[in-house]
Amino acid sequence: ANRSTRCRTIAFVTLLRMTPSAEKPELSHATLTRDPDICQAYSEDASGLIGVPDAVARPTSAKEVADLIAWCAGRPVPVPVTAQGLRSSTVGSPLAMGGVALSLEKLDRIIDIDIVRGLVIAEPGINLGAFKKSVAEAGLFFPPDPTSENECTLGGAVMTNASGARSYRYGATRPWVEAIDLVLGDGRSTTIRRSHTTKNTVGYFGFQNPVDLIVGSEGTLGVATKIVVRLLPNPAGHLSGMAFFRTLTDAVVFVQEADRKSRSTGHRGELERMHGSRGAMQPRCLELFDDGSLTMIRPQAGSLNIPESARAAIYFEEECEPDALDARLESWLALVESCQGLADDTIVATNEAQELELKRLRHALPSTMNERGRAARAAGGMKLGTDWAVPLESVGPMIEEATRLADDLFGGFYIPSTPCAA
Ligand SMILES: Cc1cc2nc3c(=O)[nH]c(=O)nc-3n(C[C@H](O)[C@H](O)[C@H](O)COP(=O)(O)OP(=O)(O)OC[C@H]3O[C@@H](n4cnc5c(N)ncnc54)[C@H](O)[C@@H]3O)c2cc1C
Repeated sequence: ANRSTRCRTIAFVTLLRMTPSAEKPELSHATLTRDPDICQAYSEDASGLIGVPDAVARPTSAKEVADLIAWCAGRPVPVPVTAQGLRSSTVGSPLAMGGVALSLEKLDRIIDIDIVRGLVIAEPGINLGAFKKSVAEAGLFFPPDPTSENECTLGGAVMTNASGARSYRYGATRPWVEAIDLVLGDGRSTTIRRSHTTKNTVGYFGFQNPVDLIVGSEGTLGVATKIVVRLLPNPAGHLSGMAFFRTLTDAVVFVQEADRKSRSTGHRGELERMHGSRGAMQPRCLELFDDGSLTMIRPQAGSLNIPESARAAIYFEEECEPDALDARLESWLALVESCQGLADDTIVATNEAQELELKRLRHALPSTMNERGRAARAAGGMKLGTDWAVPLESVGPMIEEATRLADDLFGGFYIPSTPCAA
C-alpha cells in the first residue's frame, strides 16, 4: 500500500507546474465552489497531509473538465488544478495546495461493455469496487486489486498504476489500460491509445506507447475523463486461503516452493506465469504477513482463527475449474505441511461469503496502519512507509534487518511489513 517517496515530490507538482500565488486568485467559474466547508472536505487524503484548495470543482462531463482547465490556464495568473479521485492516496498527491481541487467523483458511469472484445469504456470517477462488480456481472474480470478498491476510483487506480496481491500473476494496472481521454494543462482534449503494432522499436521506450507514460503519472500530465480497459473472462472458479507458519523462514520457503511450482521448466517459465501458467500450481497471489502484521490484525480476526503459535502467514489465491477445487486444495495443504506449516489451521475460502471475510481481514492491516499513522501524526509523530524489492530468498533477512533498523532508529517501535506480493 505504501508507494515510493518519489510520489511525495509529485504531490506538489500541479498540472500547470505552478505553486499557488500568495494572492488568492479570482475564481468565479460556474463549476467552482469556494464554500469553506466544501474546500475543507476535499483537503485530506489517507496520508494525513492537508492541502486546502481555494475552490472545488465537481464536473459532470468531460466538456466541463476541459472548459474549467482552459479557464484556469487562461487567467492572468494561471490557476493550478489538482485532480482528485476519492483521495485514498497515502502520499498526498491528490491534495491541492491552493488553486482548484478537481474532483472526478461525478464522472462515474460505465459507458460501454464490449463482452466479445473484452473491452470496457468507463468514466474515471467510478468506484473501482463497483466497477469490478458491474463487469463481473457481465462475465468479465478486471485483475488489478488494490486493497483499497472499495475506497478508490478507476481513474485513481490508473493514475497511480495501482497494484495488489494479484499483481503476482497479472501485473499492476498499466497493462490493462487500452486508451485514455485526457484533458491537457491548457484545456485541449486528446485520446491516447495503446499501439498494438508488432514492431515498434523507434525512440525511447516510454514514448513508443504513450499510454504507459500516462498510467502512473499521478495527474501531472493531464486529467483523465474516459478510460478504456481490457478485461479477461471471469475465471471459472477460484480458491483463496491463509496458511500459517511458526517461523518467517518456513513461510518464505512456502512462497519459494509455490513460485517454483508455478513455472514449467525452460525459458518460457516467466512468461507463462503472467499469461497462463503451465506449472503444477497456478497461484495468482502470494502475500506475506509477518509476526508484526499478525499481531496487528489478530484483534480484528472475528470468526477467523489466527493460531497463537503462528509467527507468519501467507495469503494465497488460485484459479481453477470448479470440479478441480478439492484436488487443488489438497495440493495447497500438502505444500503447507511440507513447509512445516500449521496445516490444520489453514483458513480456506471457497465461496463468496468466506472470501469476503478473508478479504476483510487482509484489508484490516493497511487500514489499521493508516489509522495508527494518523494518530501518530496527531501526537506529533509520523508514519514512515516504503516499498522494497529483493530476491525471494532475501525476504526473511530483509524483514529482520528492517525490524532491527526500526528498533535502532525509533527506540523500540516495531513496524510490521505491509503485505507483499512475492
Ligand atoms: C487502506 C488503503 C489501502 C491501499 N491499498 C493499496 C494497494 O493495495 N495498492 C496500491 O497501489 N495502492 C493502495 N492504496 C493507495 C490508493 O488507494 C491507491 O493509490 C488508489 O488507486 C488511489 O485512488 P483514488 O481514487 O483514491 O485517487 P486519489 O487518491 O484521489 O488520487 C491519486 C492520484 O491520482 C490522481 N488522479 C486521480 N484521478 C485522476 C484523474 N481522473 N485524472 C488524472 N489524475 C487523477 C491524483 O491527482 C493523485 O495524484 C491504498 C490506500 C489505502 C487508504
